[in-house]
Amino acid sequence: MKKIAYLLMVLVIIFSLTACDNIVERGLKKQMMQNRADMLKDGNMHVVLVGTGGPFPNTERVSVSTAVIAGGEFILVDTGPGTARNALLQRLPMGNLSAVFLTHFHSDHIADLGEANMYSWVQGNRKKRLEVFGPPGVEQVVKGYALAYAQDSVYRTAHHGEDVAPAEGATLIAKIVTLEAPGKAKLFFDRNGLRAWAFEVDHFPAEPAVGYRFEYKGNVVVITGDTKKTNTLASQADKADLFICDALDAKTIHLAAKVASEVNQPSLSKIFTDITDYHLTPVQAAEIAQNAGVKKLVFYHVVPPLTNFILKRRYLKGVGDVYDGDVEVGEDGMTFTFAPKR
Ligand SMILES: [Zn+2]
Ligand SMILES: [Zn+2]
Repeated sequence: MKKIAYLLMVLVIIFSLTACDNIVERGLKKQMMQNRADMLKDGNMHVVLVGTGGPFPNTERVSVSTAVIAGGEFILVDTGPGTARNALLQRLPMGNLSAVFLTHFHSDHIADLGEANMYSWVQGNRKKRLEVFGPPGVEQVVKGYALAYAQDSVYRTAHHGEDVAPAEGATLIAKIVTLEAPGKAKLFFDRNGLRAWAFEVDHFPAEPAVGYRFEYKGNVVVITGDTKKTNTLASQADKADLFICDALDAKTIHLAAKVASEVNQPSLSKIFTDITDYHLTPVQAAEIAQNAGVKKLVFYHVVPPLTNFILKRRYLKGVGDVYDGDVEVGEDGMTFTFAPKR
């Protein structure tokens, strides 16, 4: 009797382990099949907010990166820290990454450039270098990342072989975008119906700094990068279907500066005070959106982190008084899809 009970127990354990393998296998398969590559070819324009935070650490948002996907092209605008992690979790088709556009070279916009390059290279078995567009200075950033990842790429090609990790596609190539005249946007990208213009913004002393305007089949998406209010922002955002705009709640940050000073953190207090002079506030962004006739305004580069509803209410205070279109506070993973207008 004892022997039978023992045998039954062993059989139950074996059965459980096999079943467990099946469950894990099903889970793995589901994960690997969930790539959102259909966005590349469905004829629509898609915008995914990969990261929407500023440089201050928080559990809600990573730093900024925005995916624009249309006509088979997949652009990442900025690659702040956390970009690669989020893009992979959001199941974006990293192997199809066409290019990166950088707005400027603060670390919260470039720190994941190496990882974005590495994942897109290996996942896409890419044979061509990743193009990185940006204002003058982009060549230094690209050179630095190429050097930092030079050893990593040699290991990967040696380990996985040329078919998976072709040596010639391992690194990046800088594409300098030079603006011809102040206030005038420059068309620098025109592939498969997706066009992109760069325009000057004011993020002094980070200069040059640019924003980007995208157009695909009649839809317009504008991404500001970091900027204070300028005379030309409204014309660059003219009639945009989606205006993704830098916005910092200056009132709360001034309060943070006062508190930092009171708790004897003078450097932090100085930084808080300084950063209020080169970002838009949510109300300024809303004024621009109203003047430009923007259909939908989305805040990103959200500062401070909106960790409770009180901070969120403060952040949005006054926005509804000056702008009568749709408004959203961007969240990581938020996706906007635009059907062709023509
Ligand atoms: Zn910046
Ligand atoms: Zn920034």
